[in-house]
Amino acid sequence: MIEFSHVYMRYPSGFEALKDIDLTIPDGSFVAIIGRSGAGKSTLIRTINKLYDTSEGSIVVDGTKVEELRGASLRRFRRKVGMIFQSFNLITRTTVLRNVLTAFVPDIPWWRALLGVFTKQERMAALGSLDKVGILDKAYVRCDQLSGGQQQRVALARSLTVSPQIILADEPVASLDPVTARQVMDDFRRINQEMSITVLINIHHVDLALEYCDHVLGVRAGEVVYDGPSGQVTQDVLDAIYGKKEEA
Ligand code: ADP
Repeated sequence: MIEFSHVYMRYPSGFEALKDIDLTIPDGSFVAIIGRSGAGKSTLIRTINKLYDTSEGSIVVDGTKVEELRGASLRRFRRKVGMIFQSFNLITRTTVLRNVLTAFVPDIPWWRALLGVFTKQERMAALGSLDKVGILDKAYVRCDQLSGGQQQRVALARSLTVSPQIILADEPVASLDPVTARQVMDDFRRINQEMSITVLINIHHVDLALEYCDHVLGVRAGEVVYDGPSGQVTQDVLDAIYGKKEEA
């Protein structure tokens, strides 16, 4: 479970990107975070795994106070909370398998990481996650030979390799064409339903958010203005999140 209590986040410039956020996300949820560009969606998602520090309030994930995490405990925590980015963050000039194996780097001795020495168990786990996202046959292909959707699947496989309980995805389909975006959303749905992983997606496409996700958080100017089932997102709710046309 992810719990926010009175969370504020101010950037060093003094800009208040999150204002008094209170929310609870139960285990196994598939949540879309929607809102206009600049509303604070990305900031919100990044406070959950402490990529950004909060300024006030508290975030608790499965009983762990995120603001208190440092060093080894933060690394352990981030194994539980995988992160997927719009830009995939892959090493494009090396193979798919090597990219997935980088998931183990924070936990192995530096010399093994440097020389690329991985155990059989680690390799089997990496191949297993490639299988889960349907690209096992690409294991020995260089990442720059893959399509955008396939690269996003490599990123997904990399985060699955260390058996996360939560996956945070920051605009994972923003740079993909509509057909590929749906394929990647299908992957997220499967991971959520079959592996019971909680998935939080910051997403621009309202139609995909409502179709795929069970729950919606609507963010506007740093505040959560809607927190409820996707099935109850009416035009009035969308107006509250995005502003009416004449305000836009
Ligand atoms: P979204 O993901 O909804 O597009 P962000 O969370 O990226 O929004 O940004 C929220 C607000 O915080 C925006 O107004 C943005 O300009 C501002 N912001 C983002 N990064 C910084 C920063 N490093 N310093 C100051 N303001 C920032």
